[in-house]
Amino acid sequence: MNKKTPALQEVKGVSKPETTNKNAFEKIKKSRAKITSAATFIAKILEGNIPFLSRAITLVESTNSRHQEKANQILEGCLPFANKSVRIGITGVPGVGKSTFIEAYGKYLTSKGKKVAILAIDPSSSVHKGAILGDKTRMEELVTDTNAFIRPSASGTSLGGVAQKTRESIILCEAAGFDTIIIETVGVGQSEITVNAMVDFFLLLKLAGAGDELQGIKRGIIEMADAIVINKTDGDNIENAKIAKVAFNRALHLYPIKESKWQPKVLTASALQNKGIADIYNLIESYISLTKENHYFYKKRNEQNKFWLLATIEQQLKDNFYKNQKVQEALAEEIINLENSKTTPFNAAKKILKL
Ligand code: GDP
Repeated sequence: MNKKTPALQEVKGVSKPETTNKNAFEKIKKSRAKITSAATFIAKILEGNIPFLSRAITLVESTNSRHQEKANQILEGCLPFANKSVRIGITGVPGVGKSTFIEAYGKYLTSKGKKVAILAIDPSSSVHKGAILGDKTRMEELVTDTNAFIRPSASGTSLGGVAQKTRESIILCEAAGFDTIIIETVGVGQSEITVNAMVDFFLLLKLAGAGDELQGIKRGIIEMADAIVINKTDGDNIENAKIAKVAFNRALHLYPIKESKWQPKVLTASALQNKGIADIYNLIESYISLTKENHYFYKKRNEQNKFWLLATIEQQLKDNFYKNQKVQEALAEEIINLENSKTTPFNAAKKILKL
């Protein structure tokens, strides 16, 4: 691994656009990516240069093999400088106030002199290429804050693929000096598990209902949460929020003590009115102190690394398998055989796997 900060190399041979034609700009952007060395990227990222950080993330997200090769070199160079942040996962159903909360929390962090990077894992992005953070205008103030970096979700063909890119983006953001990384996801099930496998602290945003708070939340998600924050505790909602807090607290106490020795907490907040934000910050700080003291923090990160090693191997094996021409042909043939009742799914799979 490259422990030294590499020498800065000048970007050469980039000619100025002669026309404002969009295609010409695109071409120049592409050729810049080609000629900027990995060493330049690494040096610029370590300086905290945001345009280079963004471009490096674009390389990480690219499916082009040359881009991927460069991305891997950049990642390797950045890795010794990563790992120094607090990684927070935030989930909740659409409309619960995730963007509003992240805006309030992010501003609170930057007001304390911290640098916050916000990334997203959007399970739906693979379907309609949208992104939960795609609409950056929802974080109007944070987006102009020089100590905040907001990156919409990578798109991809699978949640695993998107997640891997987000994991790598975390490394780049940390190397660029971001000390808090927030990973946002929509509360739909599998994506929370994926996010939990890459963060230190997992925060579930909820709304107060009329005493039926526990309905509709999967047990697994409550079990994963290190804190539940009841958002929109303002106006007419205040009383309901108090009732919800009691109900959630009771529910959390039903679970056995976590390996982290942390007792998950329930807090109330109003992201819109900036209320309860400092309490959440203090809570996360106390979690980090406790788990660093009892070493759970490091153990969890090691386990996460092992998890991602295996997940990456699985993903790569699968990708290589399906990319194989012979496999594609055999698969098409066996599907026809299946339709004509000439084979069974099991036999067809066995035959294709033998290729
Ligand atoms: P997301 O879909 O989870 O990202 O939710 P948004 O942050 O976009 O918020 C959804 C709606 O809830 C918006 O109209 C927000 O203004 C509103 N909202 C967010 N937080 C609060 C809050 O603390 N109190 C109130 N009253 N409204 C809020």
